[in-house]
Amino acid sequence: MSSALPEHGAPWSEVEPRLRDLGKGDVKWRDGRTGMYIFNAGPEVEQVQKAAYAMFSSENGLGPAAFPSLAQMEREVVAAGLSLLNAPPGAAGAMTSGGTDSIFLAIKTARDHARAKRGLNGALNIVAPASVHPAFDKACMVMDIELRRIPVKDYLADVAAMEVATDANTLMIVGSAPCFPFGLIDPIEALGEVAERKGLWLHVDACVGAYIAPFVRMNGAQLPAFDFSVPAVSSMSGDLHKYGYASKGASTVFFRSEALKEFMTFDAGPWPLGRMITPSLSGTRPGGAISSAWAVMQHLGIDGYRQKQGEGTQAREKIEAGVKRLGFEVLGRPQLGIVAFAHPKIDALRIYAQMHHRGWFTAALIEPHALHLMLSPKHNEVAHEYLADLEASLGAVSEEQFTPKYAG
Ligand SMILES: *Cc1c(COP(=O)(O)O)cnc(C)c1O
Repeated sequence: MSSALPEHGAPWSEVEPRLRDLGKGDVKWRDGRTGMYIFNAGPEVEQVQKAAYAMFSSENGLGPAAFPSLAQMEREVVAAGLSLLNAPPGAAGAMTSGGTDSIFLAIKTARDHARAKRGLNGALNIVAPASVHPAFDKACMVMDIELRRIPVKDYLADVAAMEVATDANTLMIVGSAPCFPFGLIDPIEALGEVAERKGLWLHVDACVGAYIAPFVRMNGAQLPAFDFSVPAVSSMSGDLHKYGYASKGASTVFFRSEALKEFMTFDAGPWPLGRMITPSLSGTRPGGAISSAWAVMQHLGIDGYRQKQGEGTQAREKIEAGVKRLGFEVLGRPQLGIVAFAHPKIDALRIYAQMHHRGWFTAALIEPHALHLMLSPKHNEVAHEYLADLEASLGAVSEEQFTPKYAG
C-alpha cells in the first residue's frame, strides 16, 4: 500500500474499515494482557472518554475567550487535582499535553523563578534519584541543565547522597511518587527537609501517582506524605491520561502558589500580531483532551475512582502474592499500581521473553533484571491468567537452562 496522499478521496464508509484493519496488528489491550501504555478502566469509561473527546476535538484550548467551555473545564480539572494533592489555598496549575510536557514546564518555571529570585544565572543542575523518568533528561537537554542522577538506595531516593550532590548551582531536587521503574514513593518528607535547608525547589513527579495515590489512601492504605502536604514541595506533575483514565494528551502541572506559576508563562514576540502570551509551551491545545479529562472525572467521581483504583491495587496484591509463591522477590514495597519483581536464580529477561511469547505485552527492567507490570482495574480479572502463564514460563526457562544447547 502506498503511503502517499491518495489521488481521489474516499467516503468514511470506506476509510473506517481501513482504520480497523490498521489496528488489527496492534496489541489486544482490551483483553488485559498489556501492562504498559494503556490504562484500562473498562468499556464504560472508554466510551465516556471517547464521546467527550469527539465533542470538542475541533475546539482549541489556545483561545479561552473563544471557548470559555474549555477554560472552565480546565479550571475544574486543575481544581480537582489541587484538592486531591492537598494543595494550600492560592495554589495554581494548568493542563498540559502529557507528563513530559508537565515536567518541562515545572523545570522552566523553576529556572525562571531562580533567575529572578535567586540571581542564579550560570550553569544549572538538577539533582534527582536515578529512577526519575527520562523526561527530566530531555528537559535538561533542551534547557542546558545538568541532570545529576544519584544511585538509589533500596530502590528509593538516597536523600543523604542527593544532598551531597547539590551545590550553589542546583536549581531543583526531585522525588517521584511513585517512580516508574519500581512503582515506589520516594521519601518526599526527607527530600523536603533538604530543600528547606538548602533553599531549593522540590518537584514531586507524580505523573503516574497523582490520580491513584489519593484514592488508594482513601481506601485505607497508609501512604507516606508525598504531595503539597509537605511544605517544601513547590511543584508537582500528574498525568490525567494515566490513572486519571482520560484520553491521551492530558496531564496537569501544579505549583504551590499563583506567584510561582507566573514564571511558567511565555511572553513571546513581537510578530505581526503583536505579543503572544501563552500559559504553557503549546500553541494549539486539543479541546478533546481537556473535555475528555473533565468528562471522565465527572463520570467517575470520588467513589468511582476509589472503586477503580481499589481493583487495580487488588490486582497488584494478587500478583505480588502469586509471584512470591513462585519464588520471585518483589522490589521494595509497592503500594500503588506498579510492581516489579526479580527471580534470585533465573534471569527475569528470559522469563520476560517467554511471557511475551504467551501474549503478555509489558515492560521489563534492565537494572536490575526484573519483570514490570503497570496494572489497571482490568488486570484484576486476569491476574490468575498472568500467574498461570508465569508459572509455565518459569518451567520452560528452567528446562531450557538444564538442557544442553548443542546436545548430540
Ligand atoms: C509516564 C511518566 C512520565 C512521562 O509522562 P508522558 O505522559 O509519557 O510524557 C514522567 N514521569 C513518570 C513517573 C511517569 O510514569
